[in-house]
Amino acid sequence: MKKVIIIGGGLAGSEAALQLAKREIYVDLYEMRPNKETGAHKTENLAEFVCSNSLGSYDITNASGLLKHEMEELGGELIKIVFETQVPAGGALAIDRELFSQKVTQKIEENQYINIIREEITEIPTDTPVIIASGPLTSDSLSNNIKEFLGEEYLHFFDAIAPIIEKDSIDFEKAFYLNRYNKGDADYINCPMNKEEYEKFYNILINAPKIELKSFEKNAKFFESCLPIEVLASRGVDTLRYGPLKPVGLVDERTGVENYAVVQLRQDNKSASLYNLVGFQTNLKWGSQKELLQSIPGLENVSIVRYGVMHRNTFINSPRVLNPTLQSRKNPNIFFAGQLTGTEGYTESIASGLLAGINMARYINEKELIELPQETILGALTHYISFEGHTSFQPINSNWGILAEMEMDKKTRKNKKLKNELLANRATNTLKKFIEEHK
Ligand SMILES: Cc1cc2nc3c(=O)[nH]c(=O)nc-3n(C[C@H](O)[C@H](O)[C@H](O)COP(=O)(O)OP(=O)(O)OC[C@H]3O[C@@H](n4cnc5c(N)ncnc54)[C@H](O)[C@@H]3O)c2cc1C
Repeated sequence: MKKVIIIGGGLAGSEAALQLAKREIYVDLYEMRPNKETGAHKTENLAEFVCSNSLGSYDITNASGLLKHEMEELGGELIKIVFETQVPAGGALAIDRELFSQKVTQKIEENQYINIIREEITEIPTDTPVIIASGPLTSDSLSNNIKEFLGEEYLHFFDAIAPIIEKDSIDFEKAFYLNRYNKGDADYINCPMNKEEYEKFYNILINAPKIELKSFEKNAKFFESCLPIEVLASRGVDTLRYGPLKPVGLVDERTGVENYAVVQLRQDNKSASLYNLVGFQTNLKWGSQKELLQSIPGLENVSIVRYGVMHRNTFINSPRVLNPTLQSRKNPNIFFAGQLTGTEGYTESIASGLLAGINMARYINEKELIELPQETILGALTHYISFEGHTSFQPINSNWGILAEMEMDKKTRKNKKLKNELLANRATNTLKKFIEEHK
């Protein structure tokens, strides 16, 4: 009998279970609730939405919307229940979350291929096919065991993330490429500030409201080298100028002047369409982050694809341990899915459960696993998280910047709506063709 163990009956685990069952593969689905709580879930239902009831946009010219369309194309099961339980929410796709998780639970309970076991798994069973989908609040014992399996440095518990922005939105009349002391290739993008600009930036930063940490996050410990920028700033007006905004060795050749402070941006993806702000991990409210970034010379029209956040979020260092098929590199029996892989958000978690389910079924049936093309948003996400070139990996949600480059003229590139339409059309056509070829 073909059988898979799934750890975690959340969004990813539930989708993966239904994908396997659809392919007549038996599943033991382990869910630790209600015997053991996560601190955020409130019911004992499977596939519970822990916070907001919105999955974001369904518009195909929005990256998250495109991901939903791709899930439908790939035969997603939870997305169908999303539509059955939809509530009006303007442009967003929102659900009655109680009804949604009740329906998912019922569908899984009634499925003859799936056996729900209400127990905590504390050790990964390595000699049988397993999908680990235990989420951002994975229990401590299992986290320790994942750490043992992958290696100490490959499991993280907290995000302290710096914003990621689109290169296309940077004004290069002001910003310039240069590495500190002119070493090596000019990999970094630098945004220079004079004294007045720095003081304006500092004032916004020091007065900006912060996001409250949840009770189970209050004991969060951050490394001194990874402190939020607002914490550094609170130590004194010049602390940042001797830290991440240090101007020495970054003279703009065009002016020959050493600036008062410099914000550095580091390449974040292979195609160099995304950059992160060095040392800008932050817990500021998103509106304030935008205002802060827009005050930096060169970033007045910044397009932020990922805001800085700090929250409890268990995730593996996917670039070191995972393939874009979601299979672990260390043991082919073991797949990871959901937020644990470093994709972030409800839609992304369901989508990665879908791919893990499809690929696990292929693995069991001894078929070649699928790597979705990087022209599709799900393919781009799975390639992003498994890209070995990341120097410091942080979770990401769906955004246009991670898709494979597309040739287009400068005028089209500047027209966001048109650009997104072209990218979405390409994604849809590529996925249709891919599915046809892999039927
Ligand atoms: C507090 C919080 C708020 C969030 N808010 C949002 C939001 O508003 N919008 C958004 O898009 N995303 C949000 N997220 C991020 C993310 O989308 C959700 O966490 C999403 O549910 C992740 O899906 P998942 O399947 O990976 O994990 P989950 O849905 O959390 O599922 C994992 C399951 O595994 C179970 N489990 C854990 N350890 C074990 C074990 N050892 N044995 C057996 N079972 C186990 C858990 O009980 C849980 O049911 C939030 C995350 C958190 C932590």
